[in-house]
Amino acid sequence: MAGRLLSIGECMVELMQAEGDLLRKGYAGDTFNTAYYARMFLPNDWSVDYFTAVGTDTVSGEMLAFIENTGVGTGHIRRVEGRSPGLYMIHLKDGERSFSYWRSVSAAKTLADDADHLRAAVEASDIVIFSGITLAILAPAAVETLLSELRRAKAAGKLVVFDPNIRPRLWDDKARMLETISAGARASGLVMPSFDDEAMHFGDADIAATIKRYRGLGAENIVVKDGPNGVTLSFGDRKPEFVPSAKVERIVDTTSAGDSFNGAFLARYAVDGDPVSAARFAAATAAAVIQHHGALVARGKLGPAL
Ligand code: ADP
Repeated sequence: MAGRLLSIGECMVELMQAEGDLLRKGYAGDTFNTAYYARMFLPNDWSVDYFTAVGTDTVSGEMLAFIENTGVGTGHIRRVEGRSPGLYMIHLKDGERSFSYWRSVSAAKTLADDADHLRAAVEASDIVIFSGITLAILAPAAVETLLSELRRAKAAGKLVVFDPNIRPRLWDDKARMLETISAGARASGLVMPSFDDEAMHFGDADIAATIKRYRGLGAENIVVKDGPNGVTLSFGDRKPEFVPSAKVERIVDTTSAGDSFNGAFLARYAVDGDPVSAARFAAATAAAVIQHHGALVARGKLGPAL
């Protein structure tokens, strides 16, 4: 069955240390990474689109060309005069990565400013993905515009998918962070949190507590990711089900583990509706992704099973 998937958020310019003082340019961001892997694994009769705002400058144009080149559609992306994409730099020192960010005036902060445009994009989709990072970059009024549109989408029977991706440094206020993440979950039918984030910020004692809390907010389906320990699924009336992680001999770079899991999971779940087999496939994908550098690994590098 053909369908349309829309992922909403911020894609940034990535600068990574190359040789000496040289920097290599790339593009990444949690919701874009998820769209990239969903595109990789969805059949051709599905469309995958990214929703954000970029500037009218050269690097914004290059980012759009990059996104298009991965097969992810850019037709819903608004271009805003006078703004530029956010940027981050990865520093590598003795094998350890650290990050610097320049995103306080990024164009993506305006992604929900044109409510009619947002509505048209959401209405044209069957699955809509967003994250706690999407919410973190928006001003409170823009969060409300986005969430009211997503609540409407959920009520209309669309699958609204939320990865809380809790990043405290993006929020100026912890209470607002927790309230907004909870409001995001309330607008969603499928929540895909990482247990370590939830335990740290919501104080969940165990995975069952995370499931109970998101169930209590009205999310019918939950996938709790727990790194190498596997995922726990709570879908509709089914009993919780556990799917182990795949074995990884040597971790190279865990960037995008959760995002690739989400994209691969949704690609399978969208087509056959079976969360357990989708989680197995997603675990194999994430395990392959973390054995390579970078957020966006080419399909040819992921191994013959994928
Ligand atoms: P995030 O990157 O969002 O914090 P997790 O660390 O929970 O997410 O990882 C997401 C998924 O990536 C896990 O559910 C698992 O499938 C896979 N994964 C992460 N770390 C490992 C690991 N060390 N070995 C095998 N799989 C892993």
